[in-house]
Amino acid sequence: MIRLLQSKVSDRRPRLRRDFKCSPLLVFYEVTQACDLVCQHCRACAQTRSHPAELKTDDSLQLIDQLTEFPSQPMLVLTGGDPLKRADIFQLVEHATRAGIGVSITPSATPLVTPAAIGRLREAGIARIAISIDGADAATHDATRGVPGSFDRSLQILTAARTAGIPTQVNTTLTPANLAQIESLAEILAHLGIVMWSVFFLVPVGRARDLPRLSADECEMAFARLWRQAQRQPYAIKTTEAPHYRRYVIQHQISQADGCDRTATVGFVPAGVNDGKGVMFVSHTGLVHPSGFLPIVCGAFPREHVVDIYQNSPVFRALRDADKLAGKCHFCEFRHLCGGSRARAYAVTGDAFAAEPDCAYQPDGVS
Ligand code: SF4
Repeated sequence: MIRLLQSKVSDRRPRLRRDFKCSPLLVFYEVTQACDLVCQHCRACAQTRSHPAELKTDDSLQLIDQLTEFPSQPMLVLTGGDPLKRADIFQLVEHATRAGIGVSITPSATPLVTPAAIGRLREAGIARIAISIDGADAATHDATRGVPGSFDRSLQILTAARTAGIPTQVNTTLTPANLAQIESLAEILAHLGIVMWSVFFLVPVGRARDLPRLSADECEMAFARLWRQAQRQPYAIKTTEAPHYRRYVIQHQISQADGCDRTATVGFVPAGVNDGKGVMFVSHTGLVHPSGFLPIVCGAFPREHVVDIYQNSPVFRALRDADKLAGKCHFCEFRHLCGGSRARAYAVTGDAFAAEPDCAYQPDGVS
């Protein structure tokens, strides 16, 4: 039944809310690699000290100014490392906010996140604070983060930020170690008043290179469970590096739809972001990548303008063309809406255009 309905999806392109060829939706700026935590799955292989070639304050302000030149303003996510290891972080937030850019921040759950720091972030205009929680209990989370007490501190930070009036988000990396805790964690988050739960599907880069990740079938089951939670929880749920969740949701919606034109459902699903498509990452030294999980260097700020890199880099442009995908993703009717994680394809195969390694879907005619 679902297979029949999927054939109606054909190659229809989604209606875009913004033109990802011109403007990203999200720009991640890794303000530093310095961090006091030693998380198992750290993409950045964060260190205790910042790199000597880290972009200084003036360069960082110039980078923010360049972001205002995109035709549509992106959302800026200040990440790391731990952004609070930078003394000028409040200045960067304020500068971006005054320029009309919405700013989120992903501080590490350390003693640096004091009530005073939260207050300064609020005064600087921060739009959202995102904190990582990787398990429904302290034992699971602290084992991942490498620091005892990290779970309790994360909960305290989320509560303090919410009390200060700052919208909060929780980031969770899903692994075999916490897969059984989706429902229990979802319930905990419901009591924290968050606005968004972002569930990361592991990409084997950085310190996560040798960690076990979910199989394709486990991803599919996780999608179903996340979708059920999305129907009942008061906060939004999105996935990161799992665009095939969109394929799952669309399949589910089509199978549930009644009425004649079931394909209409697909037409109104906005295209999600993917590595290089709606997403750009600027490293602590100014190197520009399609995402933080896809370490292909496409340009270098400040030598090059970040708008030019995003719009014209051959790698960025190719990543936005779903017809350039290889393997089963090339033949998949969901390729414009999904396209698979390009970062995971690159990490696993060395080819950023290879088929998504962790997708269970088999397009018609692909064995
Ligand atoms: S085959 Fe590729 S494009 Fe199709 S749903 Fe899976 S990951 Fe997405």
